[in-house]
Amino acid sequence: MSYTRFDAVEEAFARPPVKAVPPAPATSDYFGCYVFNRKTMRKYLSSDTRQKVYESIEQGVTLNRDVAEQVAAGMKRWAMDMGATHYTHWFQPLTGGTAEKHDSFAEPYGKGESLEEFTGKLLCQQEPDASSFPSGGLRNTFEARGYTAWDPSSPAFIMGDTLCIPTVFISYTGEALDYKAPLLKSEAAIAKATSEVLKYFGIENEFVYSFLGWEQEYFLVDASLYAMRPDIIMAERTLVGHNSARNQQLEDHYFGCIPGRVLEFMKDLEFECYKLGIPIKTRHNEVAPNQFEIAPVYEQANLAIDHNLELMAVMKTVAEKHGFKVLLHEKPFAGINGSGKHCNWSIGTADIGLLSPGKTEMENLRFLTFTANILKAVYDNNALLKASVMTASNSHRLGANEAPPAIISSFLGTQVSSAFEELLNTNDMVRIGGKSSYSLGIPQVPELLIDNTDRNRTSPFAFTGNRFEFRAVGSSANCSSAVTVLNTIVANQLMRFKDAVDSRIADGASVVQALLDETRETYRACRDICFDGNGYSDEWKEEAKRRGLDCETSAPLCYDAFLSENTVRTYEAVGVMNEVELKARTEINWEIYSKKIEIEARVLADLTANHILPVSTRYQSILLDNVSKMKEIFTEEKEFQQVAAGEIQIIKDIAMHTSEARAQAVAMEEECDRINALDCEREKAVQFHDIVVPYLESIREHLDALEMIVDDDMWPLPKYRELLFIR
Ligand code: ADP
Ligand code: MG
Repeated sequence: MSYTRFDAVEEAFARPPVKAVPPAPATSDYFGCYVFNRKTMRKYLSSDTRQKVYESIEQGVTLNRDVAEQVAAGMKRWAMDMGATHYTHWFQPLTGGTAEKHDSFAEPYGKGESLEEFTGKLLCQQEPDASSFPSGGLRNTFEARGYTAWDPSSPAFIMGDTLCIPTVFISYTGEALDYKAPLLKSEAAIAKATSEVLKYFGIENEFVYSFLGWEQEYFLVDASLYAMRPDIIMAERTLVGHNSARNQQLEDHYFGCIPGRVLEFMKDLEFECYKLGIPIKTRHNEVAPNQFEIAPVYEQANLAIDHNLELMAVMKTVAEKHGFKVLLHEKPFAGINGSGKHCNWSIGTADIGLLSPGKTEMENLRFLTFTANILKAVYDNNALLKASVMTASNSHRLGANEAPPAIISSFLGTQVSSAFEELLNTNDMVRIGGKSSYSLGIPQVPELLIDNTDRNRTSPFAFTGNRFEFRAVGSSANCSSAVTVLNTIVANQLMRFKDAVDSRIADGASVVQALLDETRETYRACRDICFDGNGYSDEWKEEAKRRGLDCETSAPLCYDAFLSENTVRTYEAVGVMNEVELKARTEINWEIYSKKIEIEARVLADLTANHILPVSTRYQSILLDNVSKMKEIFTEEKEFQQVAAGEIQIIKDIAMHTSEARAQAVAMEEECDRINALDCEREKAVQFHDIVVPYLESIREHLDALEMIVDDDMWPLPKYRELLFIR
């Protein structure tokens, strides 16, 4: 007998928790021990070299080749002391995830001898064969050259036996081929634009950062059950599966007691994260069964994003050790919550959070100034911001009756909203004596705001006390896509704001008055982005349309926002990407969208033809057999009808569902072939969305109906109740 779903269930239930490796007594004993951090540098680098590296990390100063040579030597010694044998340039291609090509330190020479080599040049730059990464036409194949270049602002680390060096990935002609290069440019741009505006507030020579604290949601499923689900293996989500009788309606999972086996996994995961210097802070159950969350303390965005990518890789290996598979897909299961990755984003100096309301009136004006500019940027670019998080998998969350809606709006809460509304209504500037102290005519924004429980879970871009929480980012995403857009549009808006304030000052206004007036007008111009109500309601969809906010839900059409005149102008003004790079990126988005949907279509066609229909027709024959035998016993027609009508109806239902599913699966595959032959990537993606996605949904309806009819003993695929409740 072959291995069945029941063997998998039995195995899953019987799996004992694997005890997490007991960590050393205190986290501080091993925190960051796999990272080439300051503590390590003190041991392996001279103080001169260290100084240069710190400057590069903190202020983006370029390192010269001499220093790189020193760093490479120290890094190599450290890595080898830690038992590493290989090194890799670790980069973030647009396919998602991370890429690495491991090279050995060993450099064989002469007659059977070898020495370990790692030079400054190898640290700084490499040329991986990049032809198999998507380039959106930036590199034609015969010129398949891409370079990886060291990013010293994110420290090297060791994973397994390999020294990983964070790098950007760029083409031969200098265009970005990855997520990190534009992110770094956007960080520099927002730092500069913010610093300029900060001068009005008497803050100079302070370096400005964009900060990010992500919250990673994920599902766990038992490894044996996973192995029996071709759809989860190939597409990371269930393409079929009827809801289980109980799912999340009792709301008993959220913040509930963490199951033992999961807890051991989490402890192990945190242990691995701490060794990599990832400052994990929080773990808890999420809303759906078998759904969980892990979140660190916020960091500088570039570092936070590298840490998130490291985490996503580590999660997979640690989960396997515990007999789990981790699912980072945004919607692995229909009918229950999907997974997001909230991006808590803010700007500030090392000491001052610019999105925290302050104690003095000037600090409050500063807060209102930056907040108004952020709102204006989001308002002007709401379609672009949505495009930055739209993917085939995330579109199951956005706009699909789930958090958050596919319309970008911002929740401010009553206190900040009323501060802005007051600002709109006051024109009289009352001097209340002292140096530059003005009464702003608005109430002090209370300090307890940070603990304000005034929360709105439906808002995609919510102010939460000292930051904005962008909730539309998908759980599998590289947050760079969203953070780069945020940094870029806010930098652009701050540059415009500065020009406007300067011209008010040139016209004779005082600095404070100019700031106040320009902030008021900035807010006035973008009030329509603010919405504190229920983002899921149909009334909001209508209202948002009236306000001119982008309401598109089709991912391929959302991507058009990357190429709008406004976007190109903004990106070029800020210097983050040029039109060619934006075009390439958008082509790749369309290409990836189409590929994802095509994979789902092929897997579903296979499940239909080779897994579900054969079992359904086998069950149907059993029923047919039974009915014809009954006919021999119940010879009188009326009597026969009375006992057999139910079964006959089931036989007919099976016939209807199987024939429909079969016909539609065939038609869907033909459509895939036809669409694939099209030339234009945009058109392909649009047709995959408009034509193939509806097939995925309607075929599923027939297959899920069959699941409810066919004998449970015969059903080949682990069911939702098994996938979601065994842990
Ligand atoms: P929630 O209540 O939204 O679940 P969590 O505490 O789980 O909140 O996560 C909030 C995240 O926001 C954490 O990563 C936290 O470090 C981060 N965060 C807090 N303050 C800031 C800030 N000023 N800028 C960016 N991120 C921040
Ligand atoms: Mg949150």
